[in-house]
Amino acid sequence: RKVGFAIVGLGKYATEQMMPAFKESKHCKIVALVSGSPDKAQRLAQEYGVEAKSIYSYQDFDRIKDNPAVDVVYVVLPPALHAEYVVRAAQAGKHVLTEKPMAPSVAECQRMIDACRKAGKQLMVAYRAQFEPFNLDAIARIRKGELGKLRFVTADHGRQVSPTTDKADEWRVVQKLAGGGSLMDIGIYSLNAARYLTGEEPVEVSATESTDRTDPRFKEVEDQVHFTLRFPSGVLATCTSAYSIEGVKRFRAFGSKAYLDLDPATDYYRHRMVIGNADGELTTSMKEGNQFAAMLDHMAECAQQNKTPKTPGEEGLRDIKLILAIYESAKKGRPVKV
Ligand code: NAD
Repeated sequence: RKVGFAIVGLGKYATEQMMPAFKESKHCKIVALVSGSPDKAQRLAQEYGVEAKSIYSYQDFDRIKDNPAVDVVYVVLPPALHAEYVVRAAQAGKHVLTEKPMAPSVAECQRMIDACRKAGKQLMVAYRAQFEPFNLDAIARIRKGELGKLRFVTADHGRQVSPTTDKADEWRVVQKLAGGGSLMDIGIYSLNAARYLTGEEPVEVSATESTDRTDPRFKEVEDQVHFTLRFPSGVLATCTSAYSIEGVKRFRAFGSKAYLDLDPATDYYRHRMVIGNADGELTTSMKEGNQFAAMLDHMAECAQQNKTPKTPGEEGLRDIKLILAIYESAKKGRPVKV
């Protein structure tokens, strides 16, 4: 049978991106819904063929342990709620997929990892870009040496956060729900890309922040963070993150012989890769894949075979440790060793 997923949190990303992707997946099926809004849950249950008895509220979510159809719990709540629901899911004996950023603190991430380990269940962080064909192709080309020796990476992620017009942005400007501002939410894509493009772990971070605190959106969370990661090989990554610019989701890898641009790099659907050198540029074409479905199918395979996912809890924790070091560097005004 297909692997059964319970979706926890029926917000914008869950309903507009992830739930439709189940239809494109090979091995996954939505079998339960967890929501604070019974009307919405009922409507979506009908649409996805979920039985009425498999609709849960946040309060009675723990009853999911008695539902054998649920193999995986997928947590799509604001970051500060991830730990609680991941731990409860593990205690209910389920594998867990959780959205990024994993959680606002190292202690919460560790609690999530420990709970899943204790339950003998897999924990995966939903880093969809690591399942997206253009990103995978970029990594493969760098590893094969197509760019010569990789020297540095730049990565930029930003958009206009808009809590007054988009309900999904309301929690994003509240520190205790989001755990931080643009860096936690979208700068994390710059950070994660710098790590998967280089294939190395940074040893030092330096950062600077710029936030207009008179802008009502930024009373609690930061706007811009620019950060540099130093990798053991000497490769540097210069990354930006912002909540006050027109949307950008791109990176460029600079090698000794050529550069590789992916712009957009981490968008939902549109991707464009350009490889160039002094002689000119080549735009590579490739079929768009469904990164959401690919990620779900990977989780399903890991649940079925009780196999460690490609992006386990430890991968989410690494980014959170680095994000906290980036904040520390920006605050202290000096590089921080990690
Ligand atoms: P959203 O606000 O639309 O969804 C959050 C859901 O959580 C809502 O249904 C809300 O009702 C529910 N919720 C339960 N308790 C809540 C509480 N105390 N406060 C606020 N909401 C509460 O936001 P979203 O954009 O769908 O984001 C949800 C998660 O998905 C976040 O972790 C976010 O980082 C992640 N996300 C990931 C991607 C990606 O590309 N991987 C994209 C968007 C969002």
